[in-house]
Amino acid sequence: MQKIQNFINGEYVDPIKGQYLDNIEPGTGKVFAQIPNSNQEDLEKAVEAARGAFPKWSTMPTEKRSKILHKLADLIEENLEDFALMESRDNGKPLWLAKAVDIPRASTNFRFYASAIVNFSTEAQVSEGFMVNYTRRAPIGVVGCISPWNLPLYLFSWKIAPALAMGNCVIAKPSELTPMTAFLLGRLANEAGMPPGVLNILHGEGKGIGQAIVEHEATKAISFTGGTTTGKIVGATAAQQFKKVSLELGGKNPNIVFADCDLDEAVKTSVKSSFTNQGEICLCGSRILVEDSIYDAFKSKFISECKKIVVGDPLHAESTMGALVSYDHLEKVDSYVQLAKKEGGTILLGGKKLDKEGFYYEPTVIEGLDETCRTNQEEIFGPVVTLNKFSSEGEAIRVANSTRYGLSCTIWTTDLKKAHRVAHSVHSGIIWVNCWLVRDLRTPFGGMKDSGIGREGGNEALRFFTEPQNVCIKL
Ligand code: NAP
Repeated sequence: MQKIQNFINGEYVDPIKGQYLDNIEPGTGKVFAQIPNSNQEDLEKAVEAARGAFPKWSTMPTEKRSKILHKLADLIEENLEDFALMESRDNGKPLWLAKAVDIPRASTNFRFYASAIVNFSTEAQVSEGFMVNYTRRAPIGVVGCISPWNLPLYLFSWKIAPALAMGNCVIAKPSELTPMTAFLLGRLANEAGMPPGVLNILHGEGKGIGQAIVEHEATKAISFTGGTTTGKIVGATAAQQFKKVSLELGGKNPNIVFADCDLDEAVKTSVKSSFTNQGEICLCGSRILVEDSIYDAFKSKFISECKKIVVGDPLHAESTMGALVSYDHLEKVDSYVQLAKKEGGTILLGGKKLDKEGFYYEPTVIEGLDETCRTNQEEIFGPVVTLNKFSSEGEAIRVANSTRYGLSCTIWTTDLKKAHRVAHSVHSGIIWVNCWLVRDLRTPFGGMKDSGIGREGGNEALRFFTEPQNVCIKL
């Protein structure tokens, strides 16, 4: 069985106290690796390394930093097969999905920020004949990056790439449930020529080493992606030391289908937005709101498409859905389906665990629930969606906005004015019209309300990882 290590100061090292956690493969339900359960002493080593590396990394010419990040992107591509296999075994997602999306996107994240950094410019204001102001954007120093389990390398790289690009040194923690691809990244960082101490990766429990990274006075900014409950703790902890903090949190995203939509397209994409990655994407549309005049037509097409989903071994090419990430998560998802029944919902499809080793759940569609019930209000984060009817644009907007979350929304309509009107009325950080999950990495990414604060992506992320300083010169 593989035993992985922390990556500190450019070296793979055992946790100082020698404590490990089991890493379970969702597809089989069996232990397949052991990971360090890091503690404060490991963190101190990482802090020392990151502090030591900062002067050189932060003053390295931008082109040189960019080259290292480009090289890292190349190396991820070259090692696609290994990364994808690890990601699939670690997370339970289909291998083909990890190969087609997660790993290429992680490489793209490094490539995008490697390019963005050489195009990044700061602002200047000239008050003619009076003064000139310019903004210097200096790297912050040592920053903490904490990521979740659902898109392991993709979200890990989405945070660390802009932090590194701007000249910061990083202490990063992947989820204890999916540490394997982050572990592989250390070796490639060395091969890419990243100086020791610039990127440090600690494994272990969120409430242990994760909390310690947020609490440590050395980490001047925290970029966190995870659940809203954890985000509250991270935000409150970081606030004690006035740290910069970016929180990308949960969602309960509406998928609004108007009667004038292209029905076939809406159905096809709604199947994806409901069940891709086992429904374990923060941007999945878990509440499908359908205009009453096409409700029956949508329902029958949607259900018949969902019946084509094949749930099975993540390593098999024919599996369209793999396993949920853990036993606990499987139980959580099932408990919501049982709750939905108690709340008066009708299960149109699925609703059960699969009778096999590993953490498999059927794609599940529920109808007949009130918008205020817990099933329609709380994030389930699994292969469970609700179908809901609405009878007017105003009602669709009201229901879409009826949860504490505001991450993303999809709108299906061929009426351009309506698309804009509804988009501007729904309180979500990301709105898709007649599409889902397509992104230009230059655009701001993040949620409103309890879905988080701050924005990632493009210059937003580069700016986040700097300490702006205004310099004013009197003319
Ligand atoms: P989570 O339980 O909040 O964990 C996220 C990360 O935080 C993990 O690395 C976790 O470590 C760590 N952590 C836990 N407690 C901590 C603490 N007190 N201090 C510092 N770090 C701590 O979330 P998850 O279950 O991994 O991920 C699912 C959630 O992420 C969903 O709510 C989903 O919507 C959200 N998400 C949001 C976005 C977005 O961009 N808005 C993207 C993806 C996912 P351990 O795993 O080791 O406990």
